[in-house]
Amino acid sequence: MEHIVIIGNGISGVTAARHIRKLSDKKITIVSAETDYFFSRTALMYVYMGHMKFEHTQPYENWFWKKNRIELVKGFVTNVDHERKTLVLAEGKELTYDKLIIATGSKPNKFGWPGQDLDGVQGLYSKQDLDMIEANAPNNKVCNRAVIVGGGLIGIELAEMLRSRKIPVTFLVRENSFWNGVLPSGESQMINEHILDHHIDLKLETNLVEIIADENGRTKAITTDKGETIECNVVGLTAGVSPNIDFLKDSGIELGRGVKVNRLLETNIKDIYAIGDCAEQHEGIGNRRPIEAVWYTGRMMGETLAQTICGNPKSYNPGHWFNSAKFLDIEYQTYGWVFSEKIKKEYESHFHWRHAKENICITVAYHKDTNTFLGINTFGIRMRHEIFDRWLTEERDVDYVMQYLKDANFDPEFYSHYEEQIISKYNSVMHTSLSVKKKSWKRIFSKS
Ligand SMILES: Cc1cc2nc3c(=O)[nH]c(=O)nc-3n(C[C@H](O)[C@H](O)[C@H](O)COP(=O)(O)OP(=O)(O)OC[C@H]3O[C@@H](n4cnc5c(N)ncnc54)[C@H](O)[C@@H]3O)c2cc1C
Repeated sequence: MEHIVIIGNGISGVTAARHIRKLSDKKITIVSAETDYFFSRTALMYVYMGHMKFEHTQPYENWFWKKNRIELVKGFVTNVDHERKTLVLAEGKELTYDKLIIATGSKPNKFGWPGQDLDGVQGLYSKQDLDMIEANAPNNKVCNRAVIVGGGLIGIELAEMLRSRKIPVTFLVRENSFWNGVLPSGESQMINEHILDHHIDLKLETNLVEIIADENGRTKAITTDKGETIECNVVGLTAGVSPNIDFLKDSGIELGRGVKVNRLLETNIKDIYAIGDCAEQHEGIGNRRPIEAVWYTGRMMGETLAQTICGNPKSYNPGHWFNSAKFLDIEYQTYGWVFSEKIKKEYESHFHWRHAKENICITVAYHKDTNTFLGINTFGIRMRHEIFDRWLTEERDVDYVMQYLKDANFDPEFYSHYEEQIISKYNSVMHTSLSVKKKSWKRIFSKS
C-alpha cells in the first residue's frame, strides 16, 4: 500500500490527509513536532483572553485520527533523504515514504537584534508561544509593560491579548502608519486612531535597537532608534513570518524563501510536494505573492494536492483573493485587489468612504480607464463573499457595484446600513447620479 507521509499537522497538512483518506485507502502518516493534535492557530489569542480553552481550538475529537486511519507521530524531522525516500527524526528514528508532503508552516522573523533570545522575548505563533505568554505575562503585576515589535496582523492581536489583562503595551511600528504597506492610507489612519483609543502606546516610524537584560538575564528594557529607553518585562517579536524550512537546507529540494513548487505543488524532486505557508510558487499567481501565509490558501492547497496524489492531477487555482481579520474591535474584509498607495497599480483608482463618527469605512478599487471593479476593503461592515466573487468574475463596473451594494451587505437587517451615505459620497466625487437598488434575495442566490 502506498505510504503518504506529511510533515506538519497544521491546516494544510491535515486537510491533505483528510482528503487523501476520502479519496483513497493509502497509508497516511503525519509527523509533527508542535502538538499531538491539530488545532486552529488563528484561535490562539482567544485562549489567552479566556474566551475558550485550548482543547476548544481542536476541531476534531482525538479519536478522529485513529478512526480515519491517519497515523500521528510526534517528532521533529531533521533531514529528508530523497534517494532513500527516508525521513530522519530528531531522536534518530527513521521513517520511509512513497510520497512526501512538506507542510511545515512558518516561524516568526528575528532580525538579529541584540538580546532577541533573552528570557521574556518571544513570538506569537505556536502552542509553546501561547504557554510562554501565559508564563511571561499572566497579569500586570508580573508584566508591568510589554513592547511589541512589528505592526502587522499578529502584532495587533498580541496587543489586544495583553490589553485584555490590562497590561500596558508599547507598539513599535517601522512604517509611518499602521500596516500601510497593505492598507490604503484612509484605512490605515483609522486603525492608528483605533489603536490609540485602546490605550496602546503606538510609536510609528520607530525601530527596535536592542533588548537589555537585568542581572538574571531577563528582559528589563528596550532601546529604540529614536533614542528612547522603554522599561518592559516582555518583548513580542511580530515582524512577519518566514517559511519553516531550515531542516531542508542540504536535502537537494529546491528552496527560495520557501520550498519551490509548481502549480501542481510538486517540488523539483519526484514524489515530494509542498503546501501551505512553507510553499513558494515559482511565480505568484495573478497578483498573489509567491508565498501565501494565510489559513484558507493552506486548506485549498491541501485539498488540491490530495486530488493529485490520488491520481487526478489538479493545479492549485485559488480564484479571487479574499481575506478577513480583526483589528481590535474592527472587522476587516478584503475581496479582489485593493492595494495601498505604496504598491498601487498605475491603472488602479480608489473610492473611499468613512463614517463621520464610527469606525466604519470602505475602499473600492476600480480600473481608471475601464471602470471595472477590482476589489473592495470593508471595515466594520460585513459583506457577502459570494457576491463579490461573482461580481469580480463577471467583471462588473464600479457603478454597478455601488448601486447593488445592498445585495452584498451581510449585516442583519436590524443593524444600521450605510449604502445611502456611501452612494451619496460616490455621486459627489464621481459626478454621477446613481441610486441604491433595493436588496433582492433572488439576485443574491442566483448563479452567475
Ligand atoms: C496568531 C496567529 C493568528 C493568525 N490569524 C490568521 C487569520 O486570522 N487569518 C488567516 O488567514 N491566517 C491567520 N494566521 C496564519 C495562519 O494561521 C497560517 O497561514 C496557517 O496556520 C499555516 O498553516 P500551515 O499548515 O501551512 O502551517 P502551520 O500551521 O505552521 O503548521 C505546521 C506545523 O509543522 C510543524 N513543523 C515544522 N517543521 C517541522 C519539522 N521539521 N518536523 C516536524 N514538524 C514540523 C510545526 O511545528 C507546525 O506545527 C495566523 C497566524 C498566527 C500565528
